[in-house]
Formats: sequence, structure tokens, C-alpha cells
Amino acid sequence: MQPPADESYYRATAAPYEPYVPLRGSHEARVAIVGGGFAGLNTALGLAERGWPDVAVLERERIGHGASGRNGGFVFAGYSLGEQALLAQRGEAQAHALFGLTVEGVHRIRRRIAEYGIACGAVDAGVIWANWFRDPEVLRRRQRLLAERYGVAWEWLPEAQLREMVRSARYHDGLFERDALHLHPLDYALGLAQAAAARGVRLHEHSGVRRLKREGAHWRIETAEGTLRAEQVVLACGGYLAGLERRIDRAVLPIATYVVVTEPLNERLEACLATRAAVYDTRFAFDYYRPLPDTRLLWGGRVSIRERSPQAVRRLLRRDLLRVFPQLEGVRIDYAWSGLMSYARHLMPQLGGRGNGLWWAQAFGGHGLSSTCAAGELLAAAIVEGDEGWRQFAAYGLESAWRPFGFLAAQAGYWRAEFNDWLKTRLEG
Ligand SMILES: Cc1cc2nc3c(=O)[nH]c(=O)nc-3n(C[C@H](O)[C@H](O)[C@H](O)COP(=O)(O)OP(=O)(O)OC[C@H]3O[C@@H](n4cnc5c(N)ncnc54)[C@H](O)[C@@H]3O)c2cc1C
Repeated sequence: MQPPADESYYRATAAPYEPYVPLRGSHEARVAIVGGGFAGLNTALGLAERGWPDVAVLERERIGHGASGRNGGFVFAGYSLGEQALLAQRGEAQAHALFGLTVEGVHRIRRRIAEYGIACGAVDAGVIWANWFRDPEVLRRRQRLLAERYGVAWEWLPEAQLREMVRSARYHDGLFERDALHLHPLDYALGLAQAAAARGVRLHEHSGVRRLKREGAHWRIETAEGTLRAEQVVLACGGYLAGLERRIDRAVLPIATYVVVTEPLNERLEACLATRAAVYDTRFAFDYYRPLPDTRLLWGGRVSIRERSPQAVRRLLRRDLLRVFPQLEGVRIDYAWSGLMSYARHLMPQLGGRGNGLWWAQAFGGHGLSSTCAAGELLAAAIVEGDEGWRQFAAYGLESAWRPFGFLAAQAGYWRAEFNDWLKTRLEG
């Protein structure tokens, strides 16, 4: 039977769970977290692990409704900003420390999956960065930079070796990031929620926050059916904008990217991928894909300022897929969906607080698995211990993304970058 056209593979295959009841009536909490994606859930679990009582998570739809339940599932270190720019902006010591937070994020994700028994199909087989272009210098430069400035070793994959693993004539050499994994992100989000709930966190689905108001020393939070009075509030709404605090909302651009999942490929999968690693390429708007346990191929790509219909996503990504794996001609696409990432103009996460109990964690871009894990830890430590580690992000503030003009500028930038990649491909013949 065909799935509904807009249902994601993740939603269709997620572990069943008892839905979390909506917030009803008047309640109190020490910390209210708005947004049931990775940023909110990691903060909730970080608080619970520190023994902080009375934490509530409010989610407008269902846990993992946003980017967290729709993404490629790549768990790797780094930020959307890229290591070279990070180094140039922050200098060696700070850049190293910031990057290190995401390396530790990868390790913490592994540990939590094991500790809480989160069944999210984690495949700890690394990630390959495959060179779309003939010129190996881009790879060499990044490999050197990571080794010399960040102390991280990515292994060189010569073209012949890469082609044994990824059976496409499209790529040249590659780099292998061994300390990386991939997983079913919705099951991982649901696992985080369950781990937090088991430690006393109250979770409420279908509890969109409509109003946030300061009332004396507290915050008053209103949903359709209930109110919550909280000492502290964390806004973690990513690209699905909370609509509560203008300054926080207007600091991000919601940017779409798309995913499809093929029919089960059986032995045809092996004809494309003789590795369990996940793969992405060196273009600006890169393809990203990974094998799924039921021999399907999950394929993502493109960035745009708008979400598209599942039919359009299917058509576009099918073309991209066949460009890399022509041997899959005729393949059926069973699932197609879009998701919104949140980007700041500076391309770094926005993590901070105002000193009046209002915190935010957003703008994790396309590198949200490890960085939301890091952010959750920093915010939990700030709330419980008064830790100031979150100030490492202070330079990356809530500057306005200038919507709607920011969208036009972003789209123009994407077209320019995509045109450059197209031109380079053509010139290389
Ligand atoms: C298609 C796609 C592929 C990606 N691939 C990868 C990848 O492979 N690796 C990687 O590291 N990153 C990837 N990312 C990025 C990553 O998914 C995000 O950075 C991360 O999930 C952001 O988490 P978040 O909690 O900030 O936001 P979200 O997961 O978007 O969560 C925000 C939540 O807030 C809720 N919300 C909004 N307003 C309210 C309100 N008023 N009241 C209550 N709730 C509200 C929303 O419903 C939503 O559930 C990808 C993203 C997309 C879209």
C-alpha cells in the first residue's frame, strides 16, 4: 500500500508511543521549554539529568514535528558556518573550543542512545564527504585545517577506494569522517522525550504557546487550553517560529530542504552502496543520502526559501538521485517531504539568555544533531549551576534576518553558489 503523499518515512516507521496529553488548566513549572525538537528535548533532558525538578515541554504539534523529525539523520561535528570561517572569526582557541562542543555532542548522543536504550537504528559507520569536482584541493585544504587547527583526523579516500564504497562515477576522491553516525531522527527525538519523561519532565503535545507574558517574577504561558506559570522559559522553536518574542523570531530565516525515500532496493542497494556510511558531497547545495535498514535509500538535497509539495520534491530529487546512481533508473519513490531549518545571518546557533529567565536556542542550520545536544547541555548547566559556558556563543547574537528581504538575499546567494558549482562542473567536463 502506498503511504499518504506527505507522510515522512520517519513518521510511518517510528516506534509507537502513548501521546503526551495537551496542557489543560493552570499549572506551575520551574522551567517551561517551548518546542519539542532536539533543542528543547536536549535542554529538558540536561535539566532532568541534573536533578532539576518541575520542567515542562510544550510542543505545538507532536514531538519531532519540526526539522528534528524530518532530517537526514547525519550525526557529525561542526556548524553551518564552516571551520575556516569559524577560525577566522574567533581565533584558534575559541574556534577549537566551539568545534569541540559538537565533537562532544556526537559522543554524548552515542552515550545517551546506549544509556537510555534509544532504539533509533543508529549506524556507527561514519560519514563520507565525496568530491563532486575533479580538483582535490578543496578536500586537502579541509583535511589539513581539521587536523592542524581542530585536532580532528578525516581519512583520505582515493578515487578508486571511494568508488568501491560508493558505486558512482560522479565522484572523485573523498574524505571519511569516522567519528560520525546516522540514525532515525524521529525515533531518537522520541527516545530523548521518553528519557526526559522517565526523569520527571512533563511533556505536552498539541500545546502551541500563543502568548508569553512577564507577570511579576514569573512568566505566564498560554496555550489554547491551559496556562503555565514558570520561573524560566526556553524558546526552542527553530524554523517553525514561535510567534512569541519578535526579537527572537526575526533573528532566523526558515530555509527548506527536501528528502525522499525509495522503495526497498534489496540487492540493488549494494549496486550503489557497498558501505554503511552516510554520504554527502562537496557542492554548496549538496546531495546527502544513507542506506536504511530495510534496504531503502534515503536521499536529501537542495536548499530553498520555500517548502514544496511532495510531488515536486519527488520529481526534483529523483532527478538528482539518478544523476549519481543511473543504475537506479525506474526506481519508485515511496516517501517525499520538506522540512525547515533555521538559519541566522551569521550561520551559527543563537544561544543565550536575557537575565530575566528568558532563554533561547535556535538557528542550528543543517548541523543540528550534535549542536542541539551541545546547546541543551549549556543551557541546562546555565539554569541549574549558573554556568556561563553558553557565553561562548555571545558573539553570535540575535541580529535581524531581515525577513522578507533576507529571504530574497538568501535565495539569490543560493542561486549564485549553485551556478558556480554548475559552472565548475561544466568546465571540468
Ligand atoms: C530535511 C532536513 C535535513 C536535515 N539533515 C540534517 C542532518 O542530516 N544532520 C544534522 O545535524 N542536521 C540536519 N538538519 C538540521 C536539524 O534537523 C535541525 O538543525 C534541528 O533539528 C533543529 O532542532 P530544533 O529543536 O532547533 O528545531 P525543530 O526540530 O524545528 O523544533 C522546533 C519545534 O518547535 C515547535 N514550535 C514552534 N512554535 C511553537 C509554539 N509557539 N509552541 C509550541 N511549540 C512550538 C515546532 O512545532 C517544532 O516541533 C536537517 C534539517 C532538515 C529540515
